[in-house]
Amino acid sequence: MTNEQPETLPITRSEFSKLEIFKNVSFESLAGYLLGCKKILAQPGELLIDPEHPIRRLIVVLDGLLEVKLTSQGGNFSDTIEPGHSAGEMSIFDNIKPSASVYAKEPSHLLIVDATTALAMIHASHDLCLNFLHILCQRIRNNNRVVCQEEYHIRCIEENARVDSLTGLHNRRWLEEMYAREMSRSNAGNFKLCAFMLDIDHFKNVNDTYGHLAGDQVLMSVAQSITKSLRPSDMPVRYGGEEFTVFLPGTSLDNAKVIAERMRKNIEKMEITLPSGELLKVTVSIGFTERIENDSVPSIIERADQALYNAKENGRNRVCMNLGQDEMFLF
Ligand code: GH3
Ligand code: MG
Ligand code: MG
Repeated sequence: MTNEQPETLPITRSEFSKLEIFKNVSFESLAGYLLGCKKILAQPGELLIDPEHPIRRLIVVLDGLLEVKLTSQGGNFSDTIEPGHSAGEMSIFDNIKPSASVYAKEPSHLLIVDATTALAMIHASHDLCLNFLHILCQRIRNNNRVVCQEEYHIRCIEENARVDSLTGLHNRRWLEEMYAREMSRSNAGNFKLCAFMLDIDHFKNVNDTYGHLAGDQVLMSVAQSITKSLRPSDMPVRYGGEEFTVFLPGTSLDNAKVIAERMRKNIEKMEITLPSGELLKVTVSIGFTERIENDSVPSIIERADQALYNAKENGRNRVCMNLGQDEMFLF
């Protein structure tokens, strides 16, 4: 065949042997089909696969470079197709609009195989059929990888939106969801649950005297100390400004009292190194309360807040317990 019409074949045996789609396929077995294919020179910017005007054909890159552009809601994806590789494999098997556009990025020589010829070639060569399957499998695997990466990325963004960037503690947004869940679980099972409200004493003075960055350092150190005083199942949150709240699932009032006192003392003992190198000590006031029947997140936080207010009113650097019905105990 090649000896009969060598001048009409669009690609040489040497070019053929470098193409992924024809790997392990004998040149002779497809030479007759190649006669019906054409070789074109695409110029940079030339649109080769247009989702709006799909053409069922295989495009094999002989030299140059193609660019794949996928534009979906809010995101862009681009990739390149190098010599030896191809585009348009799926269009041979279905008539569905392609999801991406393909352009020539550089002047590119391309072998164009229309769908009818490609299908005839597949019928003629088992190895070519395997190559198509192999390439399509790679496409599926790549797509799965992209989807997994995207999902991971989205999860990271969602998680970051629930974390306070200064202290690393969870924020109010997280609290709204997770405290409500914990409250329903505790209400349903009649489990013990305590809530703390903690506020740094005279924090405005820290900012006024040492500057805002020093204030930020104090917030970070206090947050760290709070976490260290708790168990992994406890739920500390930066409630806002210099206020923190904690849900302590499965904790009785007696234990909560011990934990709150320990937390207060740990913070009182702590020497905070400010960005200036100076050492600073701060104190906190803590109010806490226990879950009562049919409690809600706002009502338990409100009672803990009343206890906090009482601790502040009674000199600060104190812990106060709210038993409900205005029954407060200062420690
Ligand atoms: P009290 O003992 O009654 O709690 O007095 P306080 O000075 O701690 O309370 P006040 O509510 O008057 O001041 C809180 C200050 O916290 C005011 C605000 O500027 C500061 N603040 C809130 N968020 C941040 C922050 O992210 N960084 C810094 N550095 N300061 C903050
Ligand atoms: Mg405050
Ligand atoms: Mg304060």
